[in-house]
Amino acid sequence: MHVLVVGGAGYIGSHMVKRLCQRGFEVTVLDNLSAGYRDAVTGGRFVLGDLGELEVLEDLFTTCRFDGVMHFASHIQVGESVREPAKYYRNNVFKTQHLLDAMVAHRVRCFIFSSTAAIFGEPVHVPMDEAHPKNPINPYGRGKWMVEQMLQDYEVAYDLKAVCLRYFNAAGADPEGELGERHQPETHLIPLVLRAATGRLPQVTVFGTDYDTPDGTCIRDYIHVSDLCEAHLLALQHLWDGGDSAAYNLGNGNGFSVREVIETAHTITGRDIPVRYGERRAGDPARLVADSRRARAELGWEPRYTDLATIIAHAWRWETGHGEGGR
Ligand code: UDP
Repeated sequence: MHVLVVGGAGYIGSHMVKRLCQRGFEVTVLDNLSAGYRDAVTGGRFVLGDLGELEVLEDLFTTCRFDGVMHFASHIQVGESVREPAKYYRNNVFKTQHLLDAMVAHRVRCFIFSSTAAIFGEPVHVPMDEAHPKNPINPYGRGKWMVEQMLQDYEVAYDLKAVCLRYFNAAGADPEGELGERHQPETHLIPLVLRAATGRLPQVTVFGTDYDTPDGTCIRDYIHVSDLCEAHLLALQHLWDGGDSAAYNLGNGNGFSVREVIETAHTITGRDIPVRYGERRAGDPARLVADSRRARAELGWEPRYTDLATIIAHAWRWETGHGEGGR
């Protein structure tokens, strides 16, 4: 089976490419390297290109017969999406439509879409299942929800089957230590905490200590990147087996507070982590935790690395070895 991985040089995409190659799939990566790294693509065929270049897509789909497409290429910063919505709608929505149109034109019917918990907006109930109301509160979340809705229409009209995977907080790194998180700029909590531990950052700032949570800091559901990749494989197999289009919330079901992340990182690294307590960050709900029972029941998904210590240990090995910290 031949899988096209769009955005395969990025954080989650590169882990996915490695997994697909290990499992014996033929892999083609399409990435414009705007946020990814060529050396993160450890297998398959690499094509440098952008979804905005229709001739690149046409050439790709004409020369290869894909059995499925996974789409990881998107901008991911919520704050930036508020300041630059045009960038987000252009890249995350319109360019995704180009990809879908190429799939329809070349009769490729199986699509796995990287969606997000941000489609839900302010939580109405926690843990959040798939039926939770969708009221995204920023252009990033709105764009992802638009694509999910577009996919529903494309299925009715063009018989394109899709699984939307709504990630909660993707975290951790390749357990073999070869790949990890390399965002530029980095805004995510765990890599920032680890950089404060190495001294690359003078400190980590805790965004708000007055939330309605046991220790006053925000609670998030950190899900290991390897477990996310496994869910993608199961989702693709589900479609190949004739399963229906679906959407799944992917988290490990356990929430951890910002303070717990910092304390666990201190234990794992054995380093002091200088902390500054700051103001709340706009748009952060107090608690985001996934109810992933549907993915477990329907896909047979069983997250493996559910404890925070393991997630942070893998991220730490990357940060101090091959990661930016080791460069
Ligand atoms: N956070 C923080 N300091 C930072 C970065 C993040 O306190 O420097 C908090 C943030 O407010 C949120 C949690 O850590 O409650 C996870 O944030 P991250 O940006 O990693 O992921 P998000 O939840 O925004 O997807």
